[in-house]
Amino acid sequence: MAWMLSKISSFIVVYVLIGNSMGYAEDLWKKYKVKAESYGQTERVFIDNKYIQTYKEHSGLWMNMGHGQSMERIAEKYGTTREEIIAVNEIKNPEQKVFFNARYFIPFSDDYLEKLESMGIKRHHRDVPHGEFIWPMVGSSITQKWGVRSVFGTIHSGVDMAAPIGTTVVAAGDGIILHSGFEGGYGYTVVIQHQGTLITRYAHLSQTILKKGDKVKRGQLIAFSGNTGQSTGAHLHFEIRQNDVSLDPESFLSEFKETMKEYVHFSEDQLQMIRNNQS
Ligand SMILES: [Zn+2]
Repeated sequence: MAWMLSKISSFIVVYVLIGNSMGYAEDLWKKYKVKAESYGQTERVFIDNKYIQTYKEHSGLWMNMGHGQSMERIAEKYGTTREEIIAVNEIKNPEQKVFFNARYFIPFSDDYLEKLESMGIKRHHRDVPHGEFIWPMVGSSITQKWGVRSVFGTIHSGVDMAAPIGTTVVAAGDGIILHSGFEGGYGYTVVIQHQGTLITRYAHLSQTILKKGDKVKRGQLIAFSGNTGQSTGAHLHFEIRQNDVSLDPESFLSEFKETMKEYVHFSEDQLQMIRNNQS
């Protein structure tokens, strides 16, 4: 109940702020887009998928291991060593020989990676201007827009993208995990802190992968999509917030909607103007 009340009041606050800033944010975007594009500096961003994922500078795979499975055998299969599995996963007991019932990151050897690549299994990439956001989900389309009033009278604080349960969800930008776990009506949720007071939220997940305080890179796997919390179908709910005010992700993504090529950009000037507009 307390959660509901705080949710309702935050929606009212969001609505009031959005009402004033929506048109302004769009104007800002148009005004600064040209400038942003002229920055020109791009970075090659690799996007994790079902087959190759990254964690702490390693390429590998997150796996749910059963209790008592041999570490040695799994290590051999992926060309790595038991010691490396222990190191990457920060397993406290270096003598441990078997997995416990939990999720582990299994790093691949270079040979194993090459073998995958020779089979055409690789991470796709795109060149993205420095500091810009990428879509958190590949090949998805928006099924519910931001700012729409629901049957409950609440204002939608993000965009929804329908996707089968278990679809990979990646970090939209570099940052630090602020929250990774259950969050009321959002269900299993990841929140990433980016530059300044900018955060992204990924909700209704089936599984979160990382833990609070972990550093993430653009394109890095953070979770699998699901249907948890107040959700009426399998989808990802994606939010961008500045100073806890929700912004329309789509107004920053309009040109490249529905492909993996979309990205969001907030230049430092733009962030400053958004901040000023709110005070
Ligand atoms: Zn939603």
